[in-house]
Amino acid sequence: MGNFYTDVISQDARFDSAACIDDPSLLEPTTRHLVEGIVSAAQHMGIEVMIYETYRSQQRQQALFNNGATKLRTVGVHHYGLACDIVRVIGGEPSWKGDFSFLGQLAHSSGLIWGGDWGVPDIKHSFIDSVHVQRCTVARQGDLFAGAWYPGETYNPYDDAQHLFAAAIKVSEIQQPAKAGLKTGRPRNKQ
Ligand SMILES: [Zn+2]
Repeated sequence: MGNFYTDVISQDARFDSAACIDDPSLLEPTTRHLVEGIVSAAQHMGIEVMIYETYRSQQRQQALFNNGATKLRTVGVHHYGLACDIVRVIGGEPSWKGDFSFLGQLAHSSGLIWGGDWGVPDIKHSFIDSVHVQRCTVARQGDLFAGAWYPGETYNPYDDAQHLFAAAIKVSEIQQPAKAGLKTGRPRNKQ
């Protein structure tokens, strides 16, 4: 049985594009709907935001990995249409500056995992991606990347209790000191 990744994304002409793509139509429909709700809720809060990146090809993921901008080498959740980066708009330009806790609150209430806490706010995270939201837990990512799992229409990662718990363990395991040789002032983290 197909899903949005096999039926839409993998058929799209931009599948191998190295560009940064901000087209919401490459977000899986439930994810798209939730992301659009977050954008409009932020505007209601007086915070101007924009969708910065939706779908990401493996080529672009690899390039970001090589730059030290992500910890995921070949694929990320963006590749499956299940993640979106939402940034502020300052003076008409995208901005990663300032407090993104509003995005964490909106993501949580929408049923999306926020890259500021990866769904487990009680532990300290070494990898923070405060503009990133995704509709799967960190612990589900392995199955997602292997093609063994894709969320159904009504899947809510916060109901995925066992996987949230596993995510907490997994994230705490990667709280090791940063590798020597990482450039300072490297680009912002991206999942
Ligand atoms: Zn992201």
